[in-house]
Amino acid sequence: MEKISENVYKINAGSNVYYLEKEKVLIDTGIEEYYETLKSEIDCDSIKMVIFTHLHYDHIGNFELFKNAKFYASKKEIEFFEKNPFGAILDKNLVKWFKVKLNDVSALKIFKIIETPGHTGGSICLLYKDVLFTGDTLFDCGCGRVDLPSSEPSLMKGSLEKIKKLKYKYFCPGHDY
Ligand SMILES: [Zn+2]
Repeated sequence: MEKISENVYKINAGSNVYYLEKEKVLIDTGIEEYYETLKSEIDCDSIKMVIFTHLHYDHIGNFELFKNAKFYASKKEIEFFEKNPFGAILDKNLVKWFKVKLNDVSALKIFKIIETPGHTGGSICLLYKDVLFTGDTLFDCGCGRVDLPSSEPSLMKGSLEKIKKLKYKYFCPGHDY
């Protein structure tokens, strides 16, 4: 576990999982193969909220570790998932057992939620104090792919412009590339 800033930690779980210690919040849950990593690094039962930046398989694996958590995603991401579960998740097996109640993230007050469609139509970025979490919308090396089933390529540019206007100190992408 790597400390990013006061109260914010990063865990490499195939994709980046971020942990807000005080609030007991996780942002994304990584790839299934990293089950043991997450289990050993976090007190999973203490997690109260899991927020998905989007629903691709490499960000929602291991969700079942967090038995006491409520799960959140954007309304648009949830709607796409309900219409086309495989298109939203991109993994045949995970689709079969990803049975969680997803709640609308816009109800949460601890983050500023920024809707950033592009990589997926319902992708979000989250601003927590001076820390920005960007999921697969923006990495150090550029923006995420926009050729996937739930992508909305024409909206990516506007989303990146939204991000440019934000003030933040720590940049926390969904992958380190
Ligand atoms: Zn993705």
